[in-house]
Amino acid sequence: MANKLIYVFGASQTDGAADMKNTLGGKGANLAEMCRLGISVPPGFTIATDACTVYTEQGQDAVRKLIEAEVKQGVAFVEKEMGKTFGDANDPLLVSVRSGSRASMPGMMDTILNLGLNDEAVAGLAKKSGNERFAWDSYRRFIQMYGDVVMGLKPEKKEDHDPFEEIIDEIKAKRGVELDTDLSVDDLKHMVAEFKALVKNRLGREFPNDPWEQLWGSVMAVFQSWNNDRAVLYRKMNDIPDSWGTAVNVQSMVFGNLGDNSGTGVAFTRDAATGEDMFNGEFLINAQGEDVVAGIRTPQQITLEGSRRWAVLAQVSEEERKSKYPSLEEVMPAIYEQLVKTETALENHYKDMQDIEFTIQENKLWMLQTRSAKRTGAALVRTSIEMLQQGMIDEKTALQRVGADRLNELLHPVFDGAAIKKAKSIANGLPASPGAATGQIVFFADEAEEWVAQGKNVILVRQETSPEDLRGMAVAQGILTARGGMTSHAAVVARGMGKCCVSGAGAVRVDPKARTMTVGGVVYKEGDWISLDGSKGQVYAGKIDTKDADLSGDFGKLMDLADKYKRLAIRANADTPEDARVARNFGAVGIGLCRTEHMFFEGDRIKAVREMILAQNEEGRRKALAKLLPMQRGDFEGIYKAMDGLPVTVRLLDPPLHEFLPHDEAAQREMANEMGLSYEEIKHRVDDLHEANPMMGHRGCRLGITYPEITEMQARAIIEAALNSKAQGITPKVEIMIPLVGTLREFNLQAKLIRATAEAVFAERNATIDYLLGTMIETPRGALVADAIAKEAEFFSFGTNDLTQMTLGFSRDDIGKFLPCYLNEGVYEVDPFQSIDQTGVGQLVQAAADKGRATRTGIKLGVCGEHGGDPASIGFFNKVGLDYVSCSPFRVPIARLAAAQAAIKE
Ligand code: ADP
Ligand code: MG
Ligand code: MG
Repeated sequence: MANKLIYVFGASQTDGAADMKNTLGGKGANLAEMCRLGISVPPGFTIATDACTVYTEQGQDAVRKLIEAEVKQGVAFVEKEMGKTFGDANDPLLVSVRSGSRASMPGMMDTILNLGLNDEAVAGLAKKSGNERFAWDSYRRFIQMYGDVVMGLKPEKKEDHDPFEEIIDEIKAKRGVELDTDLSVDDLKHMVAEFKALVKNRLGREFPNDPWEQLWGSVMAVFQSWNNDRAVLYRKMNDIPDSWGTAVNVQSMVFGNLGDNSGTGVAFTRDAATGEDMFNGEFLINAQGEDVVAGIRTPQQITLEGSRRWAVLAQVSEEERKSKYPSLEEVMPAIYEQLVKTETALENHYKDMQDIEFTIQENKLWMLQTRSAKRTGAALVRTSIEMLQQGMIDEKTALQRVGADRLNELLHPVFDGAAIKKAKSIANGLPASPGAATGQIVFFADEAEEWVAQGKNVILVRQETSPEDLRGMAVAQGILTARGGMTSHAAVVARGMGKCCVSGAGAVRVDPKARTMTVGGVVYKEGDWISLDGSKGQVYAGKIDTKDADLSGDFGKLMDLADKYKRLAIRANADTPEDARVARNFGAVGIGLCRTEHMFFEGDRIKAVREMILAQNEEGRRKALAKLLPMQRGDFEGIYKAMDGLPVTVRLLDPPLHEFLPHDEAAQREMANEMGLSYEEIKHRVDDLHEANPMMGHRGCRLGITYPEITEMQARAIIEAALNSKAQGITPKVEIMIPLVGTLREFNLQAKLIRATAEAVFAERNATIDYLLGTMIETPRGALVADAIAKEAEFFSFGTNDLTQMTLGFSRDDIGKFLPCYLNEGVYEVDPFQSIDQTGVGQLVQAAADKGRATRTGIKLGVCGEHGGDPASIGFFNKVGLDYVSCSPFRVPIARLAAAQAAIKE
């Protein structure tokens, strides 16, 4: 490989730029870009992602051979920029080693700070800086990070604390101090000795003293971490290919732990929870690296306004706030001003909300990272609309910024107003990620997974979370941490997942060993119910009912904008007037699928339905159908009313009849009574109706063809209801849909019946109404002969669930046994029932659409399977040129946005 693999960045030279994320990873590309913008960034170099691929494929020695000379040149560049020498005992150049892939993966890869220190250099650093405490603090941090990340020294059992932290706690306890900043130089020296002894005892080898060995160890550890479990899991959850690899950044250290005129912090150019255009963040004086997010000390706010808001939530008096937790704006006004200038410049440059990391070394500001900020769905919507209004981005960009699926979070439930008034608040923490959650307490991520697998709702309660908790966080309803700020691991990850989270609830004492959490003297055990309000930062005892969220201004604006750009119409699948109303509220412009059989389960109806199925002959069936007719008619009237003026597609009876049968003896005896037959007769009939493979059995139009009276009754109910509605001034737009059609003859048999019934009703009532008569395309044969079917059918609606099932030969009810393995093995990239299999099933959709249009110009084409609400599938349906997609009511806003995004991309 002749490619350049090392890219330097610094004041005098910068090789990379923001658009080189594929090569440099996000962090490296943005560090280079900041250098180009003239922002102070500690100099360094980036090892390209290709090197990681070489490591993965060919191993450590191969990659080292390939990059060794270039790495040496990179180090030489940094030495020149800083005027220090790597490995020098008197004035050592120290570096950080930071990973960074193309897509930001928070907390996935671990950073090593202060690399280059050893027993000799620490003395040199102390002498040169005139700050012995700082030198030893840096050294102990380095050993701790390197020992953990590179040498792999972890707790032996999951209940155990970090072994390094245990030593720190012991020393603090012995000295009677609470904060690590209160430890003396001797304490730190002692700590270093203990750390090294720990490494030696546990691992049987010495901590490496040679800076170059340290550097190579770290670089390889970053490459290795690309393949650790949690990184692999994160990539899977976020659709990031394993093949991308990670870059490695080696960067000169700047020190936030040099005393009271130094510090470190993280900030957002806007509010990551709400999207409010307010610069905000947290920092700590005399601290380094991830102290701020680790929740070791309570971080201070950057802006005065933010600090005041924080004090209200944390119940800290203004006096205490000013003396103990003043804002950066108050304590370092000049630095603050510079930081505001920088964040504004960065946001304007990237034209997006930024998440930034900085360090102050002896009153000088250094930027260490910038990236487009992860934020809640609500914040995504608000920042996009406001940046559009501020002229920073155009309409198309605003629409494309919001991942369609993220709207899900805005549609999430909040606590029921009445229930929350009665609820008992037991603690408050920070509103780390909004939403409402209620569930049973668990203290470990793996247990969260087990409990959820058993169908329970859980709240994951942790002292603070770490990347190991990711799986547990993903399945929990919500996350509660006792420590950590708004930028803690828990907060950042939860917002990314759109999951409710309360962090830093200081009054909560977590004891994972005892599996308890204590608040104000009350002990809560594993399995006890609690509830979280992630928008307010409140923790409540007990289970609290939730209700649906209401949708506010910016959301509406985004939806209007989506409607302006989208080409596909969005309908909803709704079987009841209530569902229809919800769908219309969410912007559905019709019902694409009304399943008549769903009405059959309500109240007493099932008896009439069972009577119809169990009847021995046509006469018996007609008797039962006569009971069902008025019920169905009433249902349709309700739906037409809810969808006044909008099309409603009603599908005739579809499912296998056995779904409605009484399977237990009690129910069979009840039906025997009802129908005046013996129990044995009923039992016999039920056994008779048993099917080996019901999904491919007596269902769909096969029912209406074998029992025409069923179709007659349904057609009558649909048409009579339409005439009744019309008489009441409502405009019903009826589309009657025949399911599971595979041949033109099937369609015609049913169509003839429906048309004759409609004519009969028109004659009886002396009134008429227009209606369309079409079919589902959901069997592969139906798709293949769509040109013939379109001669008679006035519309097609693709039933992509059945079409997928039958094309792949996968029984949807049985995929659990093999699909996970198939996804793992890459047989299918994604679950074909969630996102349409474009290469296979997609061909049938494309062909049927083309054939349908060839026979009948302008034939109406839609989709009514689950795929109608999936953004990737919507992109495909847009390309095929369908007229509409239909999805569940709650996905309508997502589909509207996805349809706009698909249209823009075209
Ligand atoms: P992550 O990907 O987890 O954000 P980073 O590489 O950004 O990890 O490192 C975490 C923190 O370490 C940074 O926010 C910063 O505070 C600190 N850090 C990294 N490199 C340096 C450096 N060269 N000088 C000072 N601090 C650094
Ligand atoms: Mg980190
Ligand atoms: Mg970072």
